[in-house]
Amino acid sequence: MTNTDLTQQPPARPGTNNSGGAFRRELALIPGWAYVLALVTFGAVQAAMHFLIPRDPNAPSFGERVFLGILAGSVLLVWVLLIGYVNRDSKRRGMNPRLWTLLVIFVPNALGFILYFLIRKPMQVPCGNCGTMLQPNYRFCPKCSTPRYPVCGHCNTPVQVGDLFCNNCGRMLHEPMK
Ligand SMILES: [Zn+2]
Ligand SMILES: [Zn+2]
Repeated sequence: MTNTDLTQQPPARPGTNNSGGAFRRELALIPGWAYVLALVTFGAVQAAMHFLIPRDPNAPSFGERVFLGILAGSVLLVWVLLIGYVNRDSKRRGMNPRLWTLLVIFVPNALGFILYFLIRKPMQVPCGNCGTMLQPNYRFCPKCSTPRYPVCGHCNTPVQVGDLFCNNCGRMLHEPMK
């Protein structure tokens, strides 16, 4: 590259505005099939509580069955939604979604979830120029060479927005372009 001391500034990345609504954005990640499955599961637990269990002569009272049904149904509902979340979240982090979905379903005592949230990779970020998904350690887009962070135009060291001089080669950086 022949550009001397022009600071290269990547185009603004879409969808990186972090002001609030983070939890709702994560919820929006859960696929529709997980919501449907969660509701069906919740309904099935209620049906079992009020149609199957009363056949047992030692069945708990109606009040207990309502309480247990809502409790067990809610736990399963959240569990199914979390499976849907892991299925989508693993994909956007470049992890194997099929493997992780199976792990969180079949590893007992929620250990699959705990493992997942402990070791999940940082999120991949789309290139602001061409949309290629960038691994967390990439400094440049492998498809169009757009820098992921502002870098010194002379030595390609990452610099902070607002820096006046490169922290590596000491050359003056032009004001980042808007
Ligand atoms: Zn690109
Ligand atoms: Zn430099």
